[in-house]
This record gives sequence, C-alpha cells and structure tokens, in this order.
Amino acid sequence: MTTVADSIAFKITRKTDGTPAAERESLIANPGFGRAFTDHMAVVTYTEGRGWHSAEILPRQPLMLDPAASVLHYAQEIFEGMKAYRAPNGSVQLFRPEANARRFQKSAERMAMAELPEDLFLEAVTQLVKIDRDWVPAPEVGTLYIRPFMIATEAALGVKPASEFKFIVIACAAGEYFSKDAGPVSVWVETDTVRASRGGTGTAKCGGNYAASLTAQMEGKHHGCQQVLFLDAEERRWLEEMGGMNVMMVFEDGTLLTPPLAGGTILHGITRDSLLTLARDAGLTVKEERYALDQLFADAKSGRLREVFACGTAAVVSPIGAFKSKTDTCTINNNKVGEVTAKLRQNLCDIQFGRAPDPHNWISTV
Ligand code: PMP
Repeated sequence: MTTVADSIAFKITRKTDGTPAAERESLIANPGFGRAFTDHMAVVTYTEGRGWHSAEILPRQPLMLDPAASVLHYAQEIFEGMKAYRAPNGSVQLFRPEANARRFQKSAERMAMAELPEDLFLEAVTQLVKIDRDWVPAPEVGTLYIRPFMIATEAALGVKPASEFKFIVIACAAGEYFSKDAGPVSVWVETDTVRASRGGTGTAKCGGNYAASLTAQMEGKHHGCQQVLFLDAEERRWLEEMGGMNVMMVFEDGTLLTPPLAGGTILHGITRDSLLTLARDAGLTVKEERYALDQLFADAKSGRLREVFACGTAAVVSPIGAFKSKTDTCTINNNKVGEVTAKLRQNLCDIQFGRAPDPHNWISTV
C-alpha cells in the first residue's frame, strides 16, 4: 500500500522575480494553448520504502534527471488535464478534480507506478492554483489549464517498474483549443494505425498513447483536418475516440450516442461523463453503444445523423463539420454548429464558470 510518508504540508518557495503584472496580463489576454506557463510548480517525490515525501511549491524550473531515468527509456509516465475557471465574483474554481485524482490512480496502476493518494493530488493542484491564481484568465478569454503528471526517475536501464517517481503539477493560461472563428473542425478517420487495443493502455492517460497517435495527426493535417478519429483495433470498423477527446453523435430523433467504455480501449473522459449526465437532465435519450464508420457516412448522407462533436477538458465541446477517410467524405449539419451541441456546451460551461447552479456538486472553490 502507498502511504504519505511525511505530512502533506507543502514547503512553499515563492519566485522572487515573478513575471511582472503587465507582462502576465498581456500573456493571459491572448494565451493560445499550452505556452503561457505560470510562475510556479508543485513537486512531490516518491521513494520505495519511504512513500511520498518532500512536497513543495517552487519556482517553475527545468528538471534535473539522470540520463538513465526510466521515463526517458521505457516511458513510465502518466498525466492528467484539468482546468481552473474564474467565476463571475472573481473566485477561482475547479471542476470535478476528484475524478482526475481517481483517473490518475487508475493510470498509475496500469503503468506499474506508485499510487498517489487522492488528497495529495488535490492538495498539490489547489496549492499551485492558489499561488498562481492571478494567472487564471477572465472567463471571456479562457481558463487556467492544469497539467499534473508523474515520471519514473530511478536511474536504471533494466526493464522493471521504477522505485522512484516524481509527481509534478504545472499550469498555463489557456484560450480556446480550436479557434472559434474557424467554425466546426474537420476530422480525419484513421484506418492504418490504431490508438489502443484490448488489453493495451487505451484507458490509461500515459504519454505513449499520444506519441503513437502523432503519425495519424500528421496524415490528417495533410488532408486538411484538425483532428483524428480512431477506430477499433480488431475490425477497424467501430468508432472509438479522437486523439485527445471523446466523440458524440446526435440523431434526428434527439438521441445522443457515444461509444461505450466496456472494451477498455477508450479514455474515461470526465467531460464525456458530465455531458451524458447533462443530456439526461435535459431529457435526451442517451446511448453508450458501438457505432460503425460505414453507418456514420450513411447516416450523415441520409440526414439521420444531425450533429457530431468532440468533447474533452481542453476542447470542451467542439463541433465537427466534416469527416474524411481514404475512401469517403461527408459533411455534418452543413458544417454549422448544431443546436444540441451548442446547448450542451452552454450548460457545461455555465456550471464550470459558476454562472449556473451546480446540481451535481461538481465544483470546488480554491
Ligand atoms: N480521450 C483522450 C484520448 C484524451 O486525451 C482526453 C483528454 N483528457 C479525453 C478523451 C477527454 O477526457 P476529459 O474529458 O477527462 O478531458
């Protein structure tokens, strides 16, 4: 069992020459995605026999790693993605952070890494957001994207689970993942490579899954697409998910459908789960069922398939306007944002940004 060795009180070292306010304000006014990093980071160390110890908040800085560290050779690495939102009264809030903490534990288990106690995960995230709260953009601009991750730091070239890890949290101000002005995104349907197979690491949020998806992303870009849809490994027939988000379909009878998690190849998206709940709240029929690619093209062409969108923490709810594969193409909803897509996005964002009541207790204030 993994225990917290020392108290989880964080030693805090503030950056003495923090980013000047004017520079920070200009950075967070137009942050893009994944570039405008905050001044601090959280670091907690794990050593076999001692457990988790040396919890710190310190100025963001490069890491010192032994060149034999397991993460560099055998990719023993996991991460999370979550956001802090600025509410109308100026307070800062997190959305379902316990769900990220639990998924992080599941990812750690799959990758034979030390399990991080949920309270330690939450404390590290909260402490970092507190110290860097001025980096949370105004709601009309964006959010603070938070990236907790764990790496195997033991210097050992033998292939085995490491005995030393670091858990680190960094954050950056973030605008829209996809430019809103550009309208719905086009999606490349990948039929050559797969993201995950049964028994693989599809449900773990580990770096290797993403490295393996990049050739398909390049191929998609070559075909003018911003995102990639992956199919199941066995039949190359059933929709699974996108490179970094889940996918949902809306049909003419108002049914919302998304691929099921049961096969163990799809990431258990927290946005996915939240949207299914909000859709049920709104009276939609929700189905978690397999859906075939040839059916998608047929339904798009017949008009039975009305809307498709991608969903995830970074992308929130992003409408999809077209699919392209090696052999077929189709347009969804005349490449316009659909009503159900817009409504679900609005309902979710209203809760995340504190503009609406929070009936499911998803929000915690930092
Ligand atoms: N699928 C994949 C492969 C992802 O990387 C993500 C982003 N974490 C998602 C789905 C969506 O998950 P969430 O809604 O929890 O961000």
